[in-house]
Amino acid sequence: MKKIAVLTSGGDAPGMNACIRAVVRRALGRNVSVLGVRKGYEGLIDDIFVEMGWDDVSNIIQRGGTVLHTARSARFMEPEGRRKAADNLCSRSVEGLVVIGGDGSFRGAHVFHREYLIPLVGIPATIDNDIWGTDFTIGYDTAVNTALEAIDKIRDTAAAHDRIFVVEVMGRSAGFIALEVGIGVGAEAVLIPETRTDLEKICEVVHERMEQGRTSSILVVAEGDEEGNAFEIASKMKRMSGLESRVTVLGHVQRGGSPTTRDRVLASKLGWAAVDALLDDGWPCMVGEENYGVVHHPLPDSWTRKKELDSLLVQLAENL
Ligand code: ADP
Repeated sequence: MKKIAVLTSGGDAPGMNACIRAVVRRALGRNVSVLGVRKGYEGLIDDIFVEMGWDDVSNIIQRGGTVLHTARSARFMEPEGRRKAADNLCSRSVEGLVVIGGDGSFRGAHVFHREYLIPLVGIPATIDNDIWGTDFTIGYDTAVNTALEAIDKIRDTAAAHDRIFVVEVMGRSAGFIALEVGIGVGAEAVLIPETRTDLEKICEVVHERMEQGRTSSILVVAEGDEEGNAFEIASKMKRMSGLESRVTVLGHVQRGGSPTTRDRVLASKLGWAAVDALLDDGWPCMVGEENYGVVHHPLPDSWTRKKELDSLLVQLAENL
C-alpha cells in the first residue's frame, strides 16, 4: 500500500485528534502517504480530501473534537452514495481506509467493504463505551472525568442548600458513564438502563438518609434509564413520596474538552495498530484494547455482541 485515507464519523469524542495524529505518523513512518477526509462519509462522497503531513498533526493531541470534522451521512446509507465514495477513493489511488467512529460508522464501513472490497480498519471512538471488543472506547475516560468534575461541584451546592439533585449523564442505551461517575461521586443512587430501577426503594433510601441527618443527595441517571429522563424521574419521585429535587442535565459538555492522558494513550495506541493492521493484511477489522493489549475483531462483532457492565461495579453502586 502506498496511500491510505483516514476519517472521523458519527458523534465526536475527545481523543479523535490524538488518533488521527497517530494514524498519520505511523503511516508516514512506514512510507505510506495519508489523505484526511473531511466530515466523515460526507467528505468521501463529496471528494473532500486533504493531504496530511507530519506537521499537519502537530499540536492537536490535546484538543477535543476532530480537526477533520465529523458528520452523519444519509447519502452513505444508499448504494449510490457509496458508489461515489468508492469512485473517489479509486481516482485518488487510495488503497486503504481508517474509520474512527462508533458502531454506526462501523456498520457503514462493513457494508462499504463488502461491496467494494476496500481494505478497511475501524477504531472505536465514542464517549458511551458501548462497543464490544474493546475494554474502553476513545473518549469515554474524558467524558467520565468531565461529568465527575461537574457533579462534584453540584454536590457542593446540594450540600449548601440541603437539596436533592437528579443529574442526567449521557448514555441512551448504556449505563457505562453513569455507573462509573455514580461510584466516583458517591451518588446515593445510580439509575441505568441495564438494571431495573426501583424508584420507590430509592425514595425510601433518600428519606432514611434525611432522617439520619443527611440533608443532600445526588442521584445519577443515564439518559436511557427505563423510568425516563432526569425530569421524569424527579417528577415521579415528587408524586410518589413528596421529594423535591433539582434537575441538571449535563448534555454535550461531556463530549468536549481536552482528552485525558488515558484517552490520548489509547487513541495513539489504536491509531498505530490500525495502520499496522491495514499494511500487514489484518483487515477488515476493528482494533481494540483488552487487558492493555491490542486486539483485532471482525467489524460486525462490535455491534452484534453486547458489551456487559462490570458486575462488581454494579454491586458497588448499589451498596456504597
Ligand atoms: P456513530 O458512528 O457515532 O455510532 P452513527 O450511528 O450516526 O454514528 O453512524 C455514522 C454514519 O455511519 C451514519 O450517518 C451513516 O452515514 C453511516 N452508517 C450507519 N449505519 C449504516 C448502514 N447500515 N449502512 C451504511 N452506512 C451506515
